[in-house]
Amino acid sequence: MSSASSAPRHNSPEKWSALFSGILSPEAVIRTVEPLARRTTMRVGGPADVYVEPASEADLAQVLRVCGEHDIPWLVLGRGSNVLFRDGGYAGVVISLSQSAFARIEVAAPEINCGAGARLKDVAYQAKAAGLSGFEFMEGIPGTVGGGLRMNAGAMGGAMFDLVSLVRLMGPDGQVRGCLPAQMKVEYRRCATLKDHVAISTVLRGEPAAREEIEQRMDAFNRKRWGSQPALPSAGCMFKNPRDVSAGKLIDELGLKGTRVGGAVVSLKHGNFIVNEGNATAQDVCRLIELIRERALVERGVELDPEVEIVGRE
Ligand SMILES: Cc1cc2nc3c(=O)[nH]c(=O)nc-3n(C[C@H](O)[C@H](O)[C@H](O)COP(=O)(O)OP(=O)(O)OC[C@H]3O[C@@H](n4cnc5c(N)ncnc54)[C@H](O)[C@@H]3O)c2cc1C
Repeated sequence: MSSASSAPRHNSPEKWSALFSGILSPEAVIRTVEPLARRTTMRVGGPADVYVEPASEADLAQVLRVCGEHDIPWLVLGRGSNVLFRDGGYAGVVISLSQSAFARIEVAAPEINCGAGARLKDVAYQAKAAGLSGFEFMEGIPGTVGGGLRMNAGAMGGAMFDLVSLVRLMGPDGQVRGCLPAQMKVEYRRCATLKDHVAISTVLRGEPAAREEIEQRMDAFNRKRWGSQPALPSAGCMFKNPRDVSAGKLIDELGLKGTRVGGAVVSLKHGNFIVNEGNATAQDVCRLIELIRERALVERGVELDPEVEIVGRE
């Protein structure tokens, strides 16, 4: 995700869209005022001023260059499972790597070369089919490889950067380079290097293992996940775990499960999930987040830091 620091010079979605339509390939998708709620798992939020699906790396480079030249804020959207757009929508260009050029998964054991738009679940299944272990935790995470890298997504003791050998990324100038993990800023649920760069693809390295073993591990992870995770629309865990306690346990201890603002509710099944009961607005979710943060600070002295990225206009 990135945004230019100064105010955009052209501030009309139509003007921005016209800048792209002359230079991108005919297969690229360019839309104005594109609803984003249906492109996120929380199912709330307003529209993107401009929404672009580049059809190739060359298209993506053009989009980034134009945004840079005209000070247009941009953001890469994966499957929207860790982003909350506010109700006013996104004042800039939302870029989706959902076209096939970015979705390949090529196995060359013990490595898998994955496009940033590939689904983590599909990578986990391809790894299982190839007898490669280490990818099992990805199966239940509803995001893309690019979103997984940016968030250093993890579960069940595993995380993306445990597997990364190389990331190909594109800078705001449209230049592509390969980066070793040691050259990237990676921490718990964040890769800061990808804040203003776009991950295009990555090489992930697994360990050879028997397919039955991998299958058993996946099944066990699945049972654990669905025993504790709500099925209603959400953005997954809303807060990062503070140092000494899990955020879910803390919220449970504060008696906040079931607390509601409009259509947004703290899940009864898992305290760190805010679910959308169907009619929530982004404002409902944001108010509930603030209510939880305030109670955690006042009653336990804990500052809860959202794991989910909250972006856009009020
Ligand atoms: C039900 C549920 C369960 C979940 N369980 C887990 C879990 O177990 N573990 C966990 O870690 N997370 C979990 N999540 C959160 C989420 O799925 C992960 O963070 C996931 O990796 C986000 O991927 P995405 O494609 O949806 O990214 P998005 O939500 O679309 O984007 C997330 C961030 O990544 C950036 N981004 C996306 N693509 C790129 C790219 N190509 N290059 C650079 N930046 C990019 C976006 O700009 C944004 O800043 C869960 C979410 C849900 C809804």
